[in-house]
Amino acid sequence: MSRSAHPAGPRHGDVMPEGHVSAPPADLNALDPKVWSRTVARAADAEGVVSVGGMDVLTLAEQFGTPAYILDEQDFRARCRAWRDAFGTGADVYYAGKAFLSRAVVRWLHEEGLNVDVCSGGELTVALSAGMPAERIAFHGNNKSQAELEYAVKSGVGHIVVDSFDELVRLSWIARQQGIRQRILIRVTVGVEAHTHEFIATAHEDQKFGLSLSGGMAAEAVRRALTLDGLELAGIHSHIGSQIFDTAGFEVAARRVVGLLAEIKAEHGVELPEIDLGGGLGIAYTSDDDPREPAEIAASLTEIVRRECAAEGLTPPRISVEPGRAIVGPTALTLYQVGTVKPLEGLRTYVSVDGGMSDNIRTALYDAEYSVALVSRRSAAEPMLSRVVGKHCEPATSCPRRLPAGRPAPGDLLAVPATGAYCRSMASNYNHALKPPVVAVSEGEARVIVRRETEEDLLRLDIG
Ligand SMILES: *Cc1c(COP(=O)(O)O)cnc(C)c1O
Repeated sequence: MSRSAHPAGPRHGDVMPEGHVSAPPADLNALDPKVWSRTVARAADAEGVVSVGGMDVLTLAEQFGTPAYILDEQDFRARCRAWRDAFGTGADVYYAGKAFLSRAVVRWLHEEGLNVDVCSGGELTVALSAGMPAERIAFHGNNKSQAELEYAVKSGVGHIVVDSFDELVRLSWIARQQGIRQRILIRVTVGVEAHTHEFIATAHEDQKFGLSLSGGMAAEAVRRALTLDGLELAGIHSHIGSQIFDTAGFEVAARRVVGLLAEIKAEHGVELPEIDLGGGLGIAYTSDDDPREPAEIAASLTEIVRRECAAEGLTPPRISVEPGRAIVGPTALTLYQVGTVKPLEGLRTYVSVDGGMSDNIRTALYDAEYSVALVSRRSAAEPMLSRVVGKHCEPATSCPRRLPAGRPAPGDLLAVPATGAYCRSMASNYNHALKPPVVAVSEGEARVIVRRETEEDLLRLDIG
């Protein structure tokens, strides 16, 4: 927008990244259910305080401080069940632990019948220590260390997703040392790359993950896996991207993976019993996003695999999927308190909150969009042209930028929805900020499942 069109400056709400201002929403106080977790509601009274899991945000801020991640347990469990029910008993749903992993979450996953993906020894320890049966854990990564592989094999991890020729040899040796046959999948690059609203069916294969299908590396890995001792090749794995809204990319990937199964049968006379089609389903960060439902994904993938297998004369393999963001992403919000409000004459107002890029790196890293709302009270005033910023020594855009939030004042609480995935798990101590706690709320009760870091935690690591 040109500044001269709005000479008075602060008039419009909902600030988009540089230069774009969309129309302020009809109701500044509305909370789009697409973006906010299921139990989020604004009180109908004059104050209009927002609650989640039956706990109002004023109480949450008072009890647990800010910033804090507030995780809606009911919503988390409901999303687990939606994925489980969509795929039924003939498939496995692995929750991608890298989105956010804690012991409470592992227990919920266990109770709801989901499995877990891990991609490091640390994640494996968290999953095992919360009682997830090793059999229901899959281990990923393009460069698992020798120690991590030994740990995974010794723990009895159900699947190791092998990512290279080196790793096949390494793992075969470890399994033989330990006197077991390790079940593995081979991760292939199917030449499909999907990001947000688009996918490319002939993506370049110049990337660190997987073994290329078109280049013949995948077929060669299968040849080696079938002859190496200590390995039981269970199937093929593919993961095509993240924050995907279109099922077409998954469909092309599924078709190509089944094509490989047919080649394997022709060459080796072996029908591999499993395929894993990865994760990457998108969620709504703003009202502009339109995510697919698990049932829709399940129906389309199951049907394509069934049809392609029928055409190739294959028995349909057992399907696995690995949603991370689509389960945990929408279930948490980050609660911040406003500190400084700085109007810049003729430009905009900077609203500073007590967190920022140390608790949400995604805006800085991916230029990610978020929504934000004033939650400690109803907003009566006109919206203003403003930008929410964090407190770190970094330029402005380290916090969500959309602010259909009226005119926040120091002391107000703002909430950023859809911060369940890749926020706490990617949190840092930049500026020696203390990582916020994760507070689980459900039916009027709140409990800390990951506590806030303290300065003692920082000093304990810094041993001088
Ligand atoms: C990251 C990842 C996932 C989960 O991705 P989301 O976008 O969170 O669904 C699943 N599988 C693999 C192999 C991954 O690397």
